[in-house]
Amino acid sequence: MVHTKTDKFIGLEQKYAANTYKPIDVVIERGEGAWVVDVDGKRYLDCLSAYSAVNQGHCNPRIKAAMLEQLDRVTLTSRAFRNDKLGPFLQTLSEVTGYDMAIPMNSGAEAVEAAIKAARKWGYAVKGIPDNQAEIITFTGNFHGRTISVISFSSEEQYKAEFGPLTPGFKIVEYGNVEALKEAITPNTAAILVEPIQGEAGVVVPPVDFLKDAFDVCKANNVLFIADEIQTGLGRTGKLFASDHAGIRPDIITIGKALSGGFYPVSAAIADKEILGLFKPGDHGSTFGGNPLGAVVAKTALDVLMDENLIERAAEMGEYFMGRLRRLECEHIIEVRGQGLLIGMELNVPARPFAYELKAKGVLAKETHDNVIRFAPPLVISKEDIDWAMEHIEAVFN
Ligand SMILES: *Cc1c(COP(=O)(O)O)cnc(C)c1O
Repeated sequence: MVHTKTDKFIGLEQKYAANTYKPIDVVIERGEGAWVVDVDGKRYLDCLSAYSAVNQGHCNPRIKAAMLEQLDRVTLTSRAFRNDKLGPFLQTLSEVTGYDMAIPMNSGAEAVEAAIKAARKWGYAVKGIPDNQAEIITFTGNFHGRTISVISFSSEEQYKAEFGPLTPGFKIVEYGNVEALKEAITPNTAAILVEPIQGEAGVVVPPVDFLKDAFDVCKANNVLFIADEIQTGLGRTGKLFASDHAGIRPDIITIGKALSGGFYPVSAAIADKEILGLFKPGDHGSTFGGNPLGAVVAKTALDVLMDENLIERAAEMGEYFMGRLRRLECEHIIEVRGQGLLIGMELNVPARPFAYELKAKGVLAKETHDNVIRFAPPLVISKEDIDWAMEHIEAVFN
């Protein structure tokens, strides 16, 4: 029996979509800034922002205008030909990040794949690792996407079960454990691949010196440091990159999510020319990677981030939000942790019922790994929005 529009759309998804997700049952029809409205007209504050892909806020007017303008010009050329938008986008990306160049892709997983290819190539061409022996070290609890190679080094059994055979060449060591990293490095290690904060694992923040120490270990052993900042990058944690908090400059950084401005998937692996300059025509590619529509969207997404001071805002609003969450009095809250506007609240009970209670009050958040609720609103969120959310969060938890 269909009672509401919400039920109707859920029914369609359940009938026609492969059952790979277990969403919170809200059917969103519109969005503006930090707010969304569902098909039955109810308003919600979005405290997930599509896993940080809408840092600039829903339907950001400046990105939308740039995209609409480009829609009247040309959308896809493939890189068989050149277009007048890719160069300016990559120039802005280089100026904003301080890295020489980038390889433009679409999804986050593709950026990770591109980074792995770049690191392996560097391993053979520069470090002199024997053919097909390159190793990449990853960490427990990691999330880097869903392709076969990327799930091959997941420590999550469900991500791999019944999807083998898996890709060789990866090791997994304990996240946060520098000694374990040291022991795992061999002369064939090309790179480590690490999230500065593990978002999907439940906003897991490593021990204070871990990133700096791991970086030093890499430098001492001629091993590349790849930071996956697809979720933590582009302002989310209150710095351009979460790696900045540790005072390190990774050799390769993967970005995605917010590079899209929430409009159109764009990702990239960025590095200096000593690494990305090793690629030759034919080594890698993507039909949609670097297309003019995506390039305009991503350039404007970066411009908005910088011009509207969203990085400083994430630091300020994050401190305020986290401070208020930490003052909640609830026997079920074990810890509130995170950086900037990437906040995890760990409970000693399943988090999903709380996510539903929050939804009923108009606050959209989702559990990650059973007992953690992630609060990661668009960076455009105002203090008033947070106050509004806290009233409801307090009602649910206190
Ligand atoms: C989301 C995410 C990815 C994968 O991005 P997709 O666009 O879903 O392929 C990779 N790494 C991290 C850290 C992520 O959060």
